[in-house]
Amino acid sequence: MAITVVGSVAYDSIETPAGKRERCLGGAATHFSLAASFFTDVRVIAVVGEDFGPRQEAIFTKCGIDTRGIERAKGKSFFWSGSYLDNLNEAKTNQTDLNVFAGFDPKIPSEYADSEFLFLANIDPVLQRRVRESMPNVNLVAGDTMNYWINDHKPALLEVLKGLDILLINDTEARTLAGENNLVLAARAIQAMGPKTLVIKHGEYGASLFHKVDGKESFFKVPGLPLHEVVDPTGAGDSFAGGFFGFLAAQKEQTPAAYREAMFYGSVMGSFAVERFGTERIANLNHDAIDARFNRFIELTHLD
Ligand code: AMP
Repeated sequence: MAITVVGSVAYDSIETPAGKRERCLGGAATHFSLAASFFTDVRVIAVVGEDFGPRQEAIFTKCGIDTRGIERAKGKSFFWSGSYLDNLNEAKTNQTDLNVFAGFDPKIPSEYADSEFLFLANIDPVLQRRVRESMPNVNLVAGDTMNYWINDHKPALLEVLKGLDILLINDTEARTLAGENNLVLAARAIQAMGPKTLVIKHGEYGASLFHKVDGKESFFKVPGLPLHEVVDPTGAGDSFAGGFFGFLAAQKEQTPAAYREAMFYGSVMGSFAVERFGTERIANLNHDAIDARFNRFIELTHLD
């Protein structure tokens, strides 16, 4: 099974209480791909500038990620800078430069055409929609977005939501998107916009799953792992999405039980992402560490 993902591949400058990093490899598609690559085949669609070199490319290829859909363009790669000095659960965006993404016209390599799963990672909803429409034969489509697009590009985002099976967003974004403070009501309002399954992430406090099982509303919740140090929350949401959707894609059938287990793998990958700056932790992970952490989550949530 293979997932095609479109989204930002970026350079990030990040400041947290643990320190600072200038221009480390980031981007929603990057964090998602690295996390999902531990579960299934991943193929990326994005654009990068002349500042993206073999060292950055190697971070993808070492994890077996197909980068044939990463286009090289004249100019600079997407750049984002953010800080978490006041609140580790929510980034304060200092700067967003779309750079080469401003004129990007995504092309799907023919080798990606048989992908069964599509993930529309955070990027301009116009691009998300174009990729969705170019891949009509996928079985399951999930996506993500953020306040930047919810606030200023809502009509285009609403079109994307109509084509999604699953939406993953954080709780502040869910409230803004729905215009509703109560999360259960916000979830219902968002489900009416298109995605029948909604995953709302609560930063260090875990995530909630809203979907329907046998026609009835169903609700499930996973905790976040209590960690003694959070170095850099950047990419935690995308890594959660990579673990969640990567695990789902690797299952023979996407049953309600598989969705619940996927929530745990999302939390597992999110908890790793925050332990180092940028992609450092996930890019150097192995399956034994993932299994061990999954077992810690089982211990954390079982009565016996
Ligand atoms: P998160 O998982 O929510 O922490 O996402 C972090 C990543 O999102 C960073 O690596 C950024 O490069 C990327 N990012 C930030 N702003 C945007 C945006 N407006 N569109 C797409 N990607 C973004």
